Amino acid sequence: MTSTVRYPQPKNYPVAECVRTANEHIAQGSVIYQKFTCESCGSRQTMEEENTFYLKGKCEACGHTTDIQKDGCNYMLVTGI
Ligand SMILES: [Zn+2]
Repeated sequence: MTSTVRYPQPKNYPVAECVRTANEHIAQGSVIYQKFTCESCGSRQTMEEENTFYLKGKCEACGHTTDIQKDGCNYMLVTGI
């Protein structure tokens, strides 16, 4: 049976919490890419550098720099590589 989980609203978490859980995935051989939401235009952004967390992120859509440490972030998990 296949189930699909949908996230209608992207949720953001404190950076420290993301780093902690991401490190557990990285230790198991997975790769993560940090994601955040632009505080200006609301666009969902993904960092290009793998296994790296930033405290600020520039939006590719509008150029605004978001304070990720304040707003929180999430990450995309790539497994089985
Ligand atoms: Zn933006």
